Amino acid sequence: MAYSSVRGRKPMERASKISHTNIITAPEVKGLLAECTIPRAADKATVSELLLRVPEPDQQPIKAVIAVDGSYRESLVRDDFPSATITFFAFGPLFFKLEDLRALDRETFIAPEDLSKLKKIQRFHLALPTQNISRNGRSLRDSIRYTIHEFLLKEHHGDKSLGDTLRWLIFRLWLPSSSQQRVMRHCPNQDCTREDIVLTAQSPALFDCDVCGKPIYLADTLRLHELVDDEQGASRVTSYLLSTLETLALVHLIRALWDMKPTLLREVLFIKDGPLALFGQVFSLVEPLRDLASFLNRYPDPADPSKMVSLLNIVGLEKSGSFVEHAVNIEKTLDAAQEAARQDGADVGVLLPLSNEYIYKYVIPGDPGGSIAYGGNTYWGGKVIFRAKDGSTYVATVPTSGGHKAAPKYDDFMNITEVLAAVSELRCSMYDNALIPVALANRLVSLSDVPSSRILESFARGSIGR
Ligand SMILES: [Zn+2]
Repeated sequence: MAYSSVRGRKPMERASKISHTNIITAPEVKGLLAECTIPRAADKATVSELLLRVPEPDQQPIKAVIAVDGSYRESLVRDDFPSATITFFAFGPLFFKLEDLRALDRETFIAPEDLSKLKKIQRFHLALPTQNISRNGRSLRDSIRYTIHEFLLKEHHGDKSLGDTLRWLIFRLWLPSSSQQRVMRHCPNQDCTREDIVLTAQSPALFDCDVCGKPIYLADTLRLHELVDDEQGASRVTSYLLSTLETLALVHLIRALWDMKPTLLREVLFIKDGPLALFGQVFSLVEPLRDLASFLNRYPDPADPSKMVSLLNIVGLEKSGSFVEHAVNIEKTLDAAQEAARQDGADVGVLLPLSNEYIYKYVIPGDPGGSIAYGGNTYWGGKVIFRAKDGSTYVATVPTSGGHKAAPKYDDFMNITEVLAAVSELRCSMYDNALIPVALANRLVSLSDVPSSRILESFARGSIGR
């Protein structure tokens, strides 16, 4: 049993003695509620007015899908109090060709060999000390810093390291010359007074602080250590670290294709499980991610160098949260819009671009007229609700050209027609949790022991009879 659950029992017992009725009739609560607003239900007319019909692409350059996601699990390494824990992370990309997916779709029985076509997967594993553990006498905070540094430097299967990709991203090394700097406000070593440490593309991954003489890592720019408490542990770090690692894995593959042959990027759709966003201290990676997307959005067309083409096809797909709940709420309006389109002879998908105003009015509490853009610091794309031709609904994030937009238009979303056409082919709605590549990646990368027979079964259920 974890120490926290022993300690956590008392407040729970106390809380259970306050009944629900007592809470809502208490004057303090009434006073609070009088000042609160909650997002209202979006009326049919408003939503219908904002819905757009999604055209079919003239031609589909996207031939393959790379989906990245991962999971983590905290494990006790000592049962006695105080408990000690390590958290295991597993994440990686899953690659498959749309053509193979189409072929699988046509089959009534899914053979294990067929599934292997989807399983070309590279897995990354990381074991992170998260409570009451020290590496060679370091504090928990420094043990974590060192472990992340060491992991990022590791070369997997002779490939470049993820740390090398972190450097590529933060210093924008896709540009021929980079003068980018990264300033660390404080020395990451506790009790050191040094401030404003400047890192450049040439800074080593590890160097000693001039003042305290202790190590500073390039990985410290992620600032995850700021959330670690030597006594309370590192539970606040784990979800931020996982989304950072997943994002880095995506950038790693984008970079690999860019290095190989930039135009290959046109043929691949990258999928991230969850929104294209980074929360917590790591939001500072959002700016370079936006820069990368904007850079890849303007590439000289090999067929006609006077024209520009957009190379990046990337989408974040959400399976839970307020936006998914909102999408469920407006399903009937989406149905009606699609039916109306069909009667006009257009069997197409429909799209609701989510503006700042819409989000703060109907989805998340906030000021619809305010100057603070939803996701202004955390998102590197704009949000949409998309209803595909087959009736599956998706909550998606797609990067927008020209940076973050408060009210993105259809054409602001990078390659959206092609991206949504490829997403439609995945044929799985947001709430049956069966987004094939992501669900599959989830299971393959997951540390839980799901028997392969069950993976096959659920995969078959999702594909048979369509
Ligand atoms: Zn220092």
